[in-house]
Amino acid sequence: MPLKEPESMNELVYFSNRSIGEGKAKVWVERQQCPKCKKALMGKPKGEEGNIMIRAKEYVCPACNYTVEKQEHEDSLTASIIYTCPSCKFEGEKQIPNKRKSINGAQTLRFQCDKCDANIDITKKMKEMKAKKKKGEISEDDLVG
Ligand SMILES: [Zn+2]
Ligand SMILES: [Zn+2]
Repeated sequence: MPLKEPESMNELVYFSNRSIGEGKAKVWVERQQCPKCKKALMGKPKGEEGNIMIRAKEYVCPACNYTVEKQEHEDSLTASIIYTCPSCKFEGEKQIPNKRKSINGAQTLRFQCDKCDANIDITKKMKEMKAKKKKGEISEDDLVG
């Protein structure tokens, strides 16, 4: 079954669309229903002015206030990926657990090409994020939190 691309950023915990060498990857992680009351999507808490607290260390359910630690929650989610392999140009798609490993000191989501088994790494681009923040540009990666 082909992956259904997200319609709205509001449904997502993470979204990134980037080039990787000669290939590219679009990656997204959908928000998950509250495991306790199943009435609402888990999300970052909102601040006093109703803005989402992107840097919050936990996720909360807006319906019942069930709270889960950020890392624990994000590790339990599923990442959807549509990619073009940088090694063999194969175009594929897959879903993997949203578990990031530290590779060369960077938090990385690693998966393998379905055709040639090459490792494909989605790394948080911290330096670019900071530079964009300074300039006041909005980055897709800001959704990472
Ligand atoms: Zn709930
Ligand atoms: Zn490949």
